[in-house]
Amino acid sequence: MDHLVIVNASKQFKLGKEYVVAIEDVDMTLKEGEFGALIGPSGCGKSTLLRLIADIFPPTSGSILIDGEPPAKARLQHRIGFVFQDATLLPWRTVYDNVQLPLEIVGGKVDDRSLSPEELISLVGLDGFEGARPTQLSGGMQQRAAIARALVLRPQVLLLDEPFGALDEITRQRMNLELLRIWTEAKTTALLVTHSINEAVFMADRIFVLSSRPGRLTDTISVELPRPRELQMMRTPEFFDTVNRVRDALFGEEAADAD
Ligand code: ADP
Ligand code: MG
Repeated sequence: MDHLVIVNASKQFKLGKEYVVAIEDVDMTLKEGEFGALIGPSGCGKSTLLRLIADIFPPTSGSILIDGEPPAKARLQHRIGFVFQDATLLPWRTVYDNVQLPLEIVGGKVDDRSLSPEELISLVGLDGFEGARPTQLSGGMQQRAAIARALVLRPQVLLLDEPFGALDEITRQRMNLELLRIWTEAKTTALLVTHSINEAVFMADRIFVLSSRPGRLTDTISVELPRPRELQMMRTPEFFDTVNRVRDALFGEEAADAD
């Protein structure tokens, strides 16, 4: 079943007297439990599209449905979790208090769907760091805490905007494996923004390719690698073949010359 349905969505921003078209006529769907990756050049509207889904602002035209409901309703029902590039943890709060902040805001447990902060801290591998403050954690650990916080109200859709973009390559690869494990356990639909082709192929079931501004969906590429994903899959012909398909979708004929 389609869990997320985006029909003909466009978003314009007004900048002074000018209008900037951030995304134009985007149609896409994600099935329940599917892992999607959104890839495209910087400034093509990836963050804008995620913000539309999360109801941070409305589309200029078009429609978005999450489980059949508009984003505003989905947000009120806590169906959407959002992880930003920077962990955005409150520095004066401990890991535990950061993770349980959304629960505090809604005044306790939403319903049976909610996981306890203890369970989530354990799920993201931060056992023993409940009492630590963000500045006492590495960047990767801060992002783990941010993921736990995004999951505390048990969202059905997890939106991830370049969550490991600020981390080094090695940590990032480890965090990606962790994220797949967490996604499997939390059983959410996920949409990951990345500008790494390898990352998109390694993580996703389907890759949505956006063109440069205004962002239009130019291609959707299915990844046939089995799950659970393992690092050694990055050496297989299937992996390279999919990477090349994404590269062609992003760069067209230029890709062949650049190799
Ligand atoms: P990406 O995440 O792909 O790098 P963004 O979605 O952040 O791209 O931005 C797409 C375009 O929309 C850019 O030209 C950006 O300057 C513009 N934009 C994004 N957010 C706003 C905003 N709140 N107000 C005005 N322009 C914006
Ligand atoms: Mg962005």
